[in-house]
Parts: sequence; C-alpha cells; structure tokens
Amino acid sequence: MTIRLFNTLSGQLDELVPSDGQALRMYACGPTVYDFGHIGNFRTFLQIDVLRRALLLTGTQVRHVMNITDVDDKIIRNAAAAGISIGEYTGPFEAAFLEDLESLGVQRPEQLARATEHIEKMVELIQKLAAVGAAYQAEDGSWYFRLAAFPEYGKLSKKDLSGMEDGARVDVDEYEKDSARDFALWKAAKPGEHSWDTAIGRGRPGWHIECSAMAMEYLGESFDLHAGGEDLTFPHHENEIAQSECVTHKPFARHWMHVRFLLVDGRKMSKSEGNFFTLRDLLLKGYKASAIRLSLISVPYRHQYNFTFDGLVEATAAIDRLRTFHQRLKQGNFAPGSNPALQDAAKKAQADYLAALSNDLNTAEARAPIFDLLRAANTAIDHGQLLADDRDAILTVLASFDAVFCVLEDRDAEPTRKALEYAEKSGRMADVAPELLARQALSDKMVEVMVAMRDQAKRQRNFSRADQIRNELTEKGIVLEDSKDGVRWKRK
Ligand code: AMP
Ligand code: ZN
Repeated sequence: MTIRLFNTLSGQLDELVPSDGQALRMYACGPTVYDFGHIGNFRTFLQIDVLRRALLLTGTQVRHVMNITDVDDKIIRNAAAAGISIGEYTGPFEAAFLEDLESLGVQRPEQLARATEHIEKMVELIQKLAAVGAAYQAEDGSWYFRLAAFPEYGKLSKKDLSGMEDGARVDVDEYEKDSARDFALWKAAKPGEHSWDTAIGRGRPGWHIECSAMAMEYLGESFDLHAGGEDLTFPHHENEIAQSECVTHKPFARHWMHVRFLLVDGRKMSKSEGNFFTLRDLLLKGYKASAIRLSLISVPYRHQYNFTFDGLVEATAAIDRLRTFHQRLKQGNFAPGSNPALQDAAKKAQADYLAALSNDLNTAEARAPIFDLLRAANTAIDHGQLLADDRDAILTVLASFDAVFCVLEDRDAEPTRKALEYAEKSGRMADVAPELLARQALSDKMVEVMVAMRDQAKRQRNFSRADQIRNELTEKGIVLEDSKDGVRWKRK
C-alpha cells in the first residue's frame, strides 16, 4: 500500500515512494532552540511523526533528518543578554525539546543535525553559489543570495514576484514580506557577537543556508520529501530551493509537506502573540501526554487545529475507552473458535484504517473504524459471542492502529513526573493543578500496597475496612476494577 500525500510543489496528491528504491529520504525543519517549544510547534512535529510511522507501517523504510537551529538572531541576542555562550544558552532548550518529543511518543529521526556543527558545509555552499554568480558580498562583509539568479523563485509558494525590486536586500532570518528580496546567506560579525572565522570572512550563517547545506549533506543533492509548518513555505523553503538548485541544477526535494497551524481563538499560537502553552504547561494542569498526542494528531495535518481544553478532555476519554477495551481483550477468557461477523468487522476496520491513512494521512477518518470495531466487539463480549480467534484478529488491528497513534500503552506517569520535577526546579509549583498533586502523592508502589491491604481485608471478610481503603484510593484518583483475574487499578 502506498501513501498519497498532498505535495505543495505540484499542488496535488502524489504517491510517496523512495526514489532510490530503498528508503524514503526526508528532511524536516526542526526547532530553533531559544526557548521551550509550544504545542503549536509540537503539532507540526507530531504530524511528521504520523507520516513517519505510517510509512513504516506500510512497509516503507525511512531516512529522516531533522536540524536543530542552535544559532540565529534571537539566540545570539538572548545569550548575550544572559552573559553566556550560545552553546550554554541552547543546550538546556535542546535537551527539553528532545525530552518533550519523547513524552509525546515522537520517534527520533535517524539523524539530528546541529547548525553550529555544519558551518564548514554552509561556507562551501556559499562559495559554490558565489562561483555561479548567485551570491555576492555586501560592503559590510555579509553575503547575500541574488534572487535574479534563480528565475524559478516562487515556484513552491506560487507567489507572483513581478513587483520584485532588483538588488533590494533583507538581512533578518525571519521576514514576511510579500515581495521577495535578496536574502542573507552569511552575516558579517558584529562586535560582541558569536562568530566563526572562515574562508568567506568572519561571521555566522543565515537561517536558510543551514537547511540546504545539512539536507544535502545527509540526503544528497536531490531527495524525496521536505516537511515543516505552513509558515515555512515562504520564504524559508523557497530560499532553500533557490540556494540548492542554483548549484546542483537538480530538483532539491521532490515532495513538500506543510502542516497547517494550531490556532487559539482563531489566531496562530505563537510566542510573539503570547497565546501559547508549552507541553509542560499542559502536563502541570493535569492533562496526560497521551491525550495531548491524540488530540493534536486527530485533526488531519492539512486542516487548521483549534486548540481547546475540551479537545483534551475528549481525547482523555477516548484513550480510556481504548485502554479498557485492550485490557478486556488481553485478560479475558474466550472460548476457542471464531465468529464470522467479527472476523469481517476486523478485516473491514483494518482496510478502512489503512485506506484513510494512505489518503493524505486522514487521521480523523482512520480513527473512526477503530472505534466502530471497539463498539461491535464490546457488544459481542457482553453477549459471549467473541471467540479466541476474534480476540487475536482484533488485537492485530489495535496493534496497527497503535503503530501510528501510539496511545494504547500507559506511559503517562513518566512525562508527568518529569514535568513536576521541572516545576520544582524552576519555581513553578504554584502552576500545578491540585488534583494532580493529590494524585501524585500516591506512588505506584503505595497504590500496590493499599490494593494488597484491601485484598487481605476482603479475604478476612472485613468488608467495611476494604470499602474504606477503596474510598481512600478513589479520593486520590485511583480507580479499582474487580475482575475474575484479580484487582486492576488505574489512575483517573
Ligand atoms: P520554530 O522553532 O519557530 O522554528 O518552529 C518549529 C516548527 O513549528 C516549524 O516547522 C514551524 O512551522 C512550526 N510552527 C510554529 N508555530 C506553529 C503553530 N502555531 N502551529 C503549527 N506549527 C507551528
Ligand atoms: Zn529549514
């Protein structure tokens, strides 16, 4: 089964197949590590994780590279203000970013590439651009890309550049001008700023050149897919194409994927608007990492996502149903044999699920057949009509659902624990939801001990004590389920 994905460059759904017949070579623009990421950023990384996992599920190997932008205007400014080196400044934010990805179940790319470790490659690329007349040095020693050298400029974002001013320049990394300008490839050192001494002078790279140099270093001059948030289409990705194709005369990336924004009250979530939540903010409010993951991926990547707390509550309930169902299947005793109706339902769910994913990663449509199957199977179990082979068939469907959605196993305690540790270290305990604190007060070990005490009380027919222990646990957010195979517990 092949995945069809919308390609910003061609303007249509294109099949995603590795052009070298082996692994799909993909590059995703990573974070600028000047602060904690917000969940808008993570929506983009989560949707790229959905793509990655869907490719792996359908049998396509991937070679996935992500950059870490650890030098840019903001980083230099903030590090200087704090009186520390840029490495000292970015290190903790990079570590926090990787920890947040892990909390959200995002798989690590095969290759992480830090900008500051690839300066030499960027300088080489600028020299090649200069050699073909596409780069020039300005009076202050900075290098610029000559837009006039690349007549195809604008082919990705479909911008009409007829009003373009020849030779007009822009030297900041991020700009949102409608009319394009010659942009900075290399910025000459300013007094007191971090810089590198190189063959093209003392200075530091611009943001755009970083991705061209590192993508080509790890994936070759021409590769399969390039991804990022929708705001990167112009100018960042347009600039990457220009810088690369001017030198190689080959298509840079064949396929471009852009994830639409996460919005709050109709506005883009962003640091500058001040309307953002970090992952840690939400974990401290008591939401589970799995619920954040599920809600952020359940709206397909080509639709804007309106962030609401109700969305997180819905996802929490959905995960609860899935996990309870999963346990019921794994722990139940089912008679041998198979029920043709359930076998058909499982086959249909699997087919519909894969069809939805391969149709432009339609995660909303992919979720639906799984919940239909859950309902049918629960009813069958209630009536004693689900048999051992049906259980196996349904567990297989759940496994392929989870290969992409990754919420079935309860791994939520660790991210929450880490968020609390972070709150303690950074003086944010006042932001922790009281319910979360109450829940955390009981360690897993303590719950096990109390469950065992209640068991003993029941065996001694001391039911009032057993009930008392149960009530105490309930108050702490621990739910007990008595089953034939013993007592199961979970956190609410
Ligand atoms: P940055 O760290 O600002 O370079 O952003 C990292 C990634 O997050 C980029 O791919 C951005 O396009 C993406 N991004 C930023 N804001 C949002 C948002 N509100 N919704 C979705 N993606 C975003
Ligand atoms: Zn990039």
